[in-house]
This record gives sequence, C-alpha cells and structure tokens, in this order.
Amino acid sequence: MAFSPRTEGLLDRAGEICTARGARLTDLRRDVLGLILESESPTGAYDLLERLRAVRGPAAPPTVYRALDFLQEQGLVHKLERLSAFVGCVAHEQEHAAQFLICRSCGRVTELEDHELAHALAGAAERLGFTVGKATIEAEGQCAACAAAPAGAQA
Ligand SMILES: [Zn+2]
Ligand SMILES: [Zn+2]
Repeated sequence: MAFSPRTEGLLDRAGEICTARGARLTDLRRDVLGLILESESPTGAYDLLERLRAVRGPAAPPTVYRALDFLQEQGLVHKLERLSAFVGCVAHEQEHAAQFLICRSCGRVTELEDHELAHALAGAAERLGFTVGKATIEAEGQCAACAAAPAGAQA
C-alpha cells in the first residue's frame, strides 16, 4: 500500500524502531499503521477493516486486531477508549504516558506528552498507596481552530 511521503517517512522510522527491538513491522502491520497515520481523525477498527478490504481484499478481523495489539505494544499507536479508535504515534522511542485533547467540534485529536502531568497523577495515586501502571488521559473540549471559527461555521 502506498501512502503520502510524510506517512511513508514515518513508516520507515517505525520499521527501524521495530527492528531495533527485534520485532518486525510486517506488511499488514505497516498498512494498518499507515492507514491510522494517514487519517485526520482517530480511526476505529471497523473502519480499518473496511479500508484494508478495499486494497488488500478481505482481511480476517483477528489478524487486524493482532496487528493493532502489536502496534500498541510497540507504542506506535494509542487507543482512545472514549472513541474506541486509534491514533498513530511514531514520535517516541518507547511506550510513554500520553494525554489526549479531543475536539468535540471537529473530532481532531492532539497528543500531549506532559511528564509533569504524568508525575502529578502518579504522585497523587501514590499517596493513596496506588501504583499507576499505564495512564492515558483523554480530555474533551474545543480546539484552537474551532474556537477561532466564526459562530455557525462549524459543521
Ligand atoms: Zn504517543
Ligand atoms: Zn476542533
């Protein structure tokens, strides 16, 4: 599957990250990651299956789910539980704490990687004797572009 030059660049990088860890970004994993990276907004698993079918022919859902599991383990995609959808993340070398800002108007998602936020949460939890394993924070609201748009111009 061919993607935009920007996405292809990210996919090459993702392939190197996997290789460095002794894992393999197979064709299917690459296509799934490419579709997620190419999408403007978070992509659901069903959507992915539909798009893969259009180019690769029928893809068995379990293989696609396994590819998604792999990409999450490698920290190359994040799952937004609230939307039941995935966003790509090739900027980082390893699994990391992530916070997401989800715009209610346009659906765009921005990832923050704020260590102080992650620390504050871990600290507050620790005071209750709770050890945080993995924390994904999802905040809903309005993005800067939508806030700046004239009233009534939003879909
Ligand atoms: Zn990330
Ligand atoms: Zn917006």
